[in-house]
Amino acid sequence: MARYTDAVCRLCRREGQKLFLKGDKCYSDKCPVDRRHYPPGQHGQGRKKLSEYGLQSREKQKTRRYYGVLESQFRKYFEMAERKPGVTGTNLLQILESRLDNVVYRLGMAMSRPEARQLVRHGHFTVNGRKVNIPSYLVKPGDVIALKESSRKLEKFKAVLEANASRVPPRWLDFDRDAVQGTVTALPEREDIDFPVEEHLIVELYSK
Ligand code: SF4
Repeated sequence: MARYTDAVCRLCRREGQKLFLKGDKCYSDKCPVDRRHYPPGQHGQGRKKLSEYGLQSREKQKTRRYYGVLESQFRKYFEMAERKPGVTGTNLLQILESRLDNVVYRLGMAMSRPEARQLVRHGHFTVNGRKVNIPSYLVKPGDVIALKESSRKLEKFKAVLEANASRVPPRWLDFDRDAVQGTVTALPEREDIDFPVEEHLIVELYSK
């Protein structure tokens, strides 16, 4: 499947905000978004005001990149969100937050979503005791996401868990550090999602 392979910091600079794609660097003073407040490229500093369509499209791209989702998959999530009862924009964010790679990251078992995606693909996690290596797997309330017993002694995970020792998971997730496993206690409410997005712009874009 086609994936973006260029320097990911360019994506943050394009969106004008941190998308937290690089782990440690994102929280340091080396983050290019903090150092250069303009889009990348030759004309980055001379860009004009966006049209209504441009704003909607940028919001969609930003959200897609934040969660590391391809265009076709993002569209499918939107269609799922439309079919669910409730507010489509909130449903969309709820679905994106429910992805297994996002949950692994939110629980502090990976330094970034791209890293979480790779670790899930490599089969380091179980859901309700069964190995799941599909990053897009959607968790639901009651699910238990655990680091596999055999992976717990890996230096990689020891370092990640230590680096994230003070990270507090969102209130819809409960993390047991001793067992290295998290439980989904509920689906996130809109106020639980701290990503600064105006999801109504995405709904307007896809509703044209
Ligand atoms: Fe790069 Fe992370 Fe900063 Fe984004 S937030 S520009 S990925 S260091």
